[in-house]
Amino acid sequence: MSKNLAFTASALYTVETMDMNALFAAAQKAAEAAYAPYSRFRVGAALLSSDGAVYTGCNVENRSYGLTICAERSAVVRAVSDGKRSFTALAIATPDSASPVGPCGACRQVLSEFMPPEAPVFFAGAGPEQVSTTLGILYPYDSLHDFFNDP
Ligand SMILES: [Zn+2]
Repeated sequence: MSKNLAFTASALYTVETMDMNALFAAAQKAAEAAYAPYSRFRVGAALLSSDGAVYTGCNVENRSYGLTICAERSAVVRAVSDGKRSFTALAIATPDSASPVGPCGACRQVLSEFMPPEAPVFFAGAGPEQVSTTLGILYPYDSLHDFFNDP
């Protein structure tokens, strides 16, 4: 069963150098490194850089809870630290959930800094349901981009 939420990626943002299945496999692998002793809910993310490189991240929890960082932002921080600032696709794996779990609100905001709204986002859990959508659908009305020009 696939839930396609208006997958509207244009040809410009189709994943040419790596298909989404491979990107999702990278996200699944990244989830294995998750540090999630409190929630026991592992998350892996894989970002495709505009130059074809893949950057993965996992959730890293903290006993304070509030300092926990999500897999998606882990991947962004890792990529930006490596000099990458433009991403064309994202895959998220939540192997401890039967259903797909999309990025949280904070991650959607952070992703919008470096990904265009047309960028495809794919996520799935351990079950057969999958979600293919775009960042713009997940994070509409990104009004901050109207006030601040891209650096
Ligand atoms: Zn998040």
